[in-house]
Amino acid sequence: MSDCLFCKIVAKEIPADIVYENARALAFRDINPQAPTHVLVIPRAHHADGAALAAADDGLADDVLKAAHAVAVQEGVAEGGYRIVFNTGAGAGQTVFHVHAHVLGGRGLTWPPG
Ligand code: AMP
Ligand code: ZN
Repeated sequence: MSDCLFCKIVAKEIPADIVYENARALAFRDINPQAPTHVLVIPRAHHADGAALAAADDGLADDVLKAAHAVAVQEGVAEGGYRIVFNTGAGAGQTVFHVHAHVLGGRGLTWPPG
């Protein structure tokens, strides 16, 4: 989608601190980190939110989850514990409508989230 911020990051039209990429997913550091590790994992293909990703029915959700875990391992937070968050819909705080998994770790994470 031409007006989508994260599609522009996929297309390398906007710079990002990319930490992981494979054929179907891309991961980059959040510009406003909420934890020592805060990486966004996205499918290269545009899907608006977690619901659309779940409906994609081509294994893409699987790829994004596996990429998120690979990022956690690479960042050194997998052993200590980390959180994967899909804010889905404006009411849940979603502001960028290209689905993204937040991978958060490197500090104690409270539950429940706000
Ligand atoms: P959400 O509110 O769940 O939609 O998350 C969107 C996230 O994207 C926020 O945590 C922002 O800090 C992050 N963000 C927005 N623009 C950029 C950008 N250009 N590069 C990296 N992260 C971004
Ligand atoms: Zn997009």
